[in-house]
Amino acid sequence: MMEMDQLREIATKKVNPQKLSKDCYIGSVACVLMTDKGNMYTGVCIDAPSGIGFCAEHAAIASMVNNDETRIVKIVAVGKNGKIYPPCGRCREFIYQINAKNIDAEILVEENKIVKLAEILPSRWN
Ligand SMILES: [Zn+2]
Repeated sequence: MMEMDQLREIATKKVNPQKLSKDCYIGSVACVLMTDKGNMYTGVCIDAPSGIGFCAEHAAIASMVNNDETRIVKIVAVGKNGKIYPPCGRCREFIYQINAKNIDAEILVEENKIVKLAEILPSRWN
């Protein structure tokens, strides 16, 4: 199993901001996640107006489910120079809904601080 620091390093290398079109940018944030099988999946954000883009976490999760996996054990998202971004509220909920066991997923939320999803998604609505 890879350590969080290694995942962060890989994510940092994936950050590569590019302008795709007049409106659309990609790659300002990159995410790396590791599953219970020890497999790694990556994704980058797509920033587009009108709420049609999505987060790097969302892209990494899509890649994971394309490979018939749902159980996340570690996840990290970074921007330029390895700046850590905790998952937004939508992604927290998304991580949970993909597999309820992901409530135990470890997330790097700031420098030297790893929390479980349960700590940042404490009150379930369902
Ligand atoms: Zn998000």
